[in-house]
Amino acid sequence: MNQRIATIKKTKEIQEKYNVFTKKTYGQNFIIEPKVVEKIAQAAIESPDELVFEIGPGIGALTQCLCERSNHVVAFEIDDRLPMVLENEIGFDHLEVILQDFMKVDVDQQIQKYRKENQKVVFASNLPYYITTPILFKLFEAKEKIERITVMMQKEVGERFLAKENEKEYNALSVITQYRCDVKKVMDVSRHVFWPKPNVDSMVVQFSFHHKYRLENEDVFFKMVKSCFTQRRKTIYNNFQDFVKDKELAKNLLIQANIEPSTRAQQCTLEDFIRLYEVGKGYYDC
Ligand code: SAM
Repeated sequence: MNQRIATIKKTKEIQEKYNVFTKKTYGQNFIIEPKVVEKIAQAAIESPDELVFEIGPGIGALTQCLCERSNHVVAFEIDDRLPMVLENEIGFDHLEVILQDFMKVDVDQQIQKYRKENQKVVFASNLPYYITTPILFKLFEAKEKIERITVMMQKEVGERFLAKENEKEYNALSVITQYRCDVKKVMDVSRHVFWPKPNVDSMVVQFSFHHKYRLENEDVFFKMVKSCFTQRRKTIYNNFQDFVKDKELAKNLLIQANIEPSTRAQQCTLEDFIRLYEVGKGYYDC
């Protein structure tokens, strides 16, 4: 095993050697605990044959472990100071570093470019917190098959992805995500294992695509779900009628979908929302 980058000593040594001090604007909080990177890599990769995409390798704390577990790692980094550091410090032939803002990457194109026949594709990252949700939605919307996504994020954001009906954190994001993926917590992570130390704790969450549902127009379904959560204190009927733009129709559709109009969206399951979409899909004018 190579000397771990994910320690405070090695991190500071690399930062001084290459003059690459952390940039807050890029959400740079490097992991300085070997056990954490090892556990993320272990959860992210099931077989060395899987193609691994990493978002934001930084100075390579997690990248190093990903390269030990997979024969092909492709990492996207926005900070132009870092590819050279990764090349020198990691030294694996099967690591490719791409200097690019991940928000501008065409995910389908990159998967097509790097994936070999029948190869499974996974994503892993200690995400830059300022774009956690946009990055995940970009991956959720990819057409090419992704097996699983294993990522570190702010604990309270992770709780929203994981939340089930009747839980405080449950919202449209929970429903839309669970429509596509089984979501599970890999571990809680203390703020003390990052350099510099952020103000919040983190969580590693894994998303596995389940392909259980295939609605005709998913964009309309997502808009409908969001509309039902617009004002948390209102009943589902009150929120939903703004979406349908017809009070009577809204009530009838809820009843047909077996949803009591006086309940709140937070009490409805994913299956409830799917039924509501199905009974009304001819009426939704988006
Ligand atoms: N993986 C490293 C670790 O765990 O120590 C660094 C994680 S740090 C939280 C986030 C990384 O994402 C930084 O290296 C940052 O430069 C990079 N980053 C930020 N925005 C990015 C973007 N839009 N596209 C690609 N990388 C980005």
